[in-house]
Amino acid sequence: MTPRASTVARPMRFAAVALLLLAMAGCATAPSVAPQRSALAHWTPSPNFNARKAQLIVLHHTSIGDPAAALRVLSTRNSEGPVSAHYLVEADGRIDQLVDDNARAWHAGASRWAGMTDINSSSIGIEIDNDGNSPFTQPQIQALVNLLADLTARLGIPREAVVGHGDIAPGRKNDPSVQFPWATLARYGFGLWPDPTLLPAPPNFDSLAAMRLVGYDVGSPRNAIIAFHRHYRAMETDALDATDAAILYSLQRKLMAPRQ
Ligand SMILES: [Zn+2]
Repeated sequence: MTPRASTVARPMRFAAVALLLLAMAGCATAPSVAPQRSALAHWTPSPNFNARKAQLIVLHHTSIGDPAAALRVLSTRNSEGPVSAHYLVEADGRIDQLVDDNARAWHAGASRWAGMTDINSSSIGIEIDNDGNSPFTQPQIQALVNLLADLTARLGIPREAVVGHGDIAPGRKNDPSVQFPWATLARYGFGLWPDPTLLPAPPNFDSLAAMRLVGYDVGSPRNAIIAFHRHYRAMETDALDATDAAILYSLQRKLMAPRQ
């Protein structure tokens, strides 16, 4: 019995060793980070990026209103220097991906959010094809919502961590414009949004401190208020009122509530 058992076992041992060697060879040659690309988008790579990991999603409008021209700007060296974004969402709902999700695209510029300053290193940038004045199209917003669902699930980015370029660069950037439907995004569960029924803020409520808690750089209160108004009230005025305080009180309660 013993010799027979040994002749059966030997080929199995050789097979196990061969499999182990194959696995080791695989480890030695496998890339350390797998490419992260959305199945929803056409891969049209831009060379303008560095490597990094995302925690935030930043939305832009292109100001161009011509997807071919926008793709050119996002993939080439321009007179004002090279720029890029991970995605471009066109008016008809087509999504182009220009930079791998694990790489650092060049879309935010000098920005600040929740104490972070190198936003390019910590964010996904999504350009939305729009001239800066017109309404965003329904297929475009639906495509954006699908992309946000894909990105937050795949990359583990919190669903509320979706902001505008204007939010992170107050006084310098104003995109996406007041036309952008933040409330629609909130209905799909993206971005930080107040409760539908607002409670009045308590006496002595500090709206600027609440804005800082939300993430805004309040170094220039006027610029921060304009950015906050663009995002939450579709207007660009610079004086805080009772409605702002109620919105900020709601946002503050959401941010300070224990996570489910
Ligand atoms: Zn922008």
